[in-house]
Amino acid sequence: MKECNQCGKCCIKYANGGLCATAEEIENWENNYPDIYQYVSNGKIWMDPHNGTQLAVCPWLKQDEKGKYLCSIYFSRPEDCRWYPVSVNEMIRDECEMLENRDLQNLKNTQVKLDTLMSDSRPPLQHK
Ligand code: SF4
Ligand code: SF4
Repeated sequence: MKECNQCGKCCIKYANGGLCATAEEIENWENNYPDIYQYVSNGKIWMDPHNGTQLAVCPWLKQDEKGKYLCSIYFSRPEDCRWYPVSVNEMIRDECEMLENRDLQNLKNTQVKLDTLMSDSRPPLQHK
C-alpha cells in the first residue's frame, strides 16, 4: 500500500453531501472556528453560507501548484474525513490511489495493513 498521494478523489466524492460532522465537532466550530461554522446548516456540512444549500465542492479543498489537493482545515476537519479510508472495499470503490495491485490479492491482510497505517487516526475496522 502506498502513501496517500493527495489525488483528491475522496474529498471530491464525499464533500457533496456525503460527509457528516458530530454534534461536538459542530459545537467546537461554533465556539472557536466561526469561519468553518458558517458552512454548517441544520447540522449538515458543507452548506452554502448565503442560501443554506449543499455545496458541490468542499470549500476547504485547495490545490497546490503541482495539482495536489490539500485540506485547508486539516487539523479541524471532521472525523469523517480523518477516518478515511476505513475499509479496503471503500478504497476499491473510490479508486483510492493508495492501493497497489498486490493489495488486491489478499484483502484481509490489506485491511490489517490499512488499520495499522491509520492507527493514529481511528480504531481498526471490526472483523467478523
Ligand atoms: S474538510 Fe478537508 S478532508 Fe474533508 S472533504 Fe474538505 S478538504 Fe477534504
Ligand atoms: S483517494 Fe486515496 S490517495 Fe486519493 S486523496 Fe483520498 S486517501 Fe489519498
